[in-house]
Amino acid sequence: MDVVIVGAGFAGMYMLHSCRQAGLSAVVFERGGGVGGTWYWNRYPGARCDVPSLEYSYQFSEELQQEWEWTEKYATQPEILRYAEHVADRFDLKRDIHFDALVISISYDDDRNHWTTTLADGTTTTSRFVVSAVGCLSSANRPRFPGDDTFTGKIVHTGEWPHEGVDFAGRRVAVIGTGSSGIQAIPIIAEQCKHLTVFQRTASYTIPAHNAPLDPQYVRGIKADYATFRAKNALTRAALGGDTPTGTRSASEVSDEELDRILNERWAKGGLLFLGGFNDSMVNKVSNDRIATWVRKKISSIVRNPNTARLLQPETVIGCKRLVVDSGYYDTFNRPNVDLVDVSEHPIERFTPDGIVVNGKEHEVDVVVLATGFDAMTGSLLKLGVTGRNGTSLRDAWGAGPVNYLGLTVNGFPNFFMITGPGSPSVLTNVLVSIQHHVEWITSTILHLDAHGHSAIEATETAQESWVQHVNGVASMTLFPMCNSWYLGANVPGKPRVFMPLPGFPDYVSRVAKATAEHYEGFALTN
Ligand code: NAP
Repeated sequence: MDVVIVGAGFAGMYMLHSCRQAGLSAVVFERGGGVGGTWYWNRYPGARCDVPSLEYSYQFSEELQQEWEWTEKYATQPEILRYAEHVADRFDLKRDIHFDALVISISYDDDRNHWTTTLADGTTTTSRFVVSAVGCLSSANRPRFPGDDTFTGKIVHTGEWPHEGVDFAGRRVAVIGTGSSGIQAIPIIAEQCKHLTVFQRTASYTIPAHNAPLDPQYVRGIKADYATFRAKNALTRAALGGDTPTGTRSASEVSDEELDRILNERWAKGGLLFLGGFNDSMVNKVSNDRIATWVRKKISSIVRNPNTARLLQPETVIGCKRLVVDSGYYDTFNRPNVDLVDVSEHPIERFTPDGIVVNGKEHEVDVVVLATGFDAMTGSLLKLGVTGRNGTSLRDAWGAGPVNYLGLTVNGFPNFFMITGPGSPSVLTNVLVSIQHHVEWITSTILHLDAHGHSAIEATETAQESWVQHVNGVASMTLFPMCNSWYLGANVPGKPRVFMPLPGFPDYVSRVAKATAEHYEGFALTN
């Protein structure tokens, strides 16, 4: 094979298509039973994308983007999975995808300059190149609690949701975790179950989605010139929402009335662009504090029980953990069948056969939903068991945190590429746009190597050292590192604390273009 691709989510699917278009032989190994990646696994009730569907979609085929009809502003998980299936069928991708194929090791052979990928069933495949398309949020974080093996009810994780679904009717349910997954699932579970207890360690900031069916006239308008719509989005920091310009003023300078007006407007519009009302929300602590205070007041105006309202008000910088986009989350706590249990000071002590004990009190439940997130950005990559030159494992090379150049290649791992790897904007963008950028760069780089008689490419040590410094430098100019987020690896005990994604898509794209144009500056190309 020319290329082995790991993962058949949106990144792996497009990588396969792109390889074929370029005349490269390629095969995909996917641990799941179908395409769709995160949308294959995350089938929990309420799962929905927080990027508008007209943007969270491929743009490599004009026919595809014209013919596919999204039904809602924010697409549900089933609709996105149908889209992934449609793309796989339309471009005949499945004939080169092996499903239920768990990769357990990927090893580089120094003498032959090729990679051997081994599956759990012992099958091996050799290839000139390997592309990791494993996704940034695909390795479930499943904390263990004392006694959890004695619990007689059901325990499910949002990121590994049972395909047959979970019947909540008449049941007492616990949700542990109040990030995006928990916040999307909680309102729906509350409607379906007898009683819901939410165990919250850290409150999140969540902005209403104001989801609605898509207006056909609006869709026609976008489709009439989809290219311009896409181009405008790619020029924004998060490659998203080009039609909603960022405010030009500092939140620290406007009057209380003006602040209120702008934030009310953004709240009414809803979604991830809430913080874009001002030009310094994520770089100026004073501005950020004013916005956060406004949101806290908003929460207390929605939630009727003052103690619950107080607990739901986050104390952290707004936006330093990813903003959540919800449908009816705060209002759910006004329901008589929903309780909030604060586990910040008194963590979950233990599970019993019948429930969960916190601060000496047992909460009896029948089903526990772990909405406890992911070992983000590096978790799935490191599980691949990648071993590069001289038998060095990626796990060892990244013992102190991920080190690479442009988030694409690693020194000592020739011809091994990452799509949306750490060190690239990835999770701070509309990831479909980042995926397209990486896939197209990887394919054109392979073609360049072949055309110029090079057999291998990898990052130089110097380039990757300065790249890591660059990523840290950019992050430290923002407020992102100011809380314990998964961007920093802080949610997984023992994980090195390094800010992993790079803020700012357009600047990143120009840096990649410049390095490429300057004869692949920062990469070592060997004959
Ligand atoms: P998350 O943001 O990491 O949230 C996990 C939650 O579990 C946090 O509230 C965390 O508390 C809690 N938790 C973890 N371990 C715990 C423990 N031992 N005891 C009590 N609480 C514990 O994970 P997520 O909600 O799955 O979201 C991850 C990311 O996936 C999102 O930020 C987003 O990028 C993506 N996502 C997107 C969508 C969408 O498009 N709408 C939906 C779902 C997910 P602490 O905060 O205290 O650690």
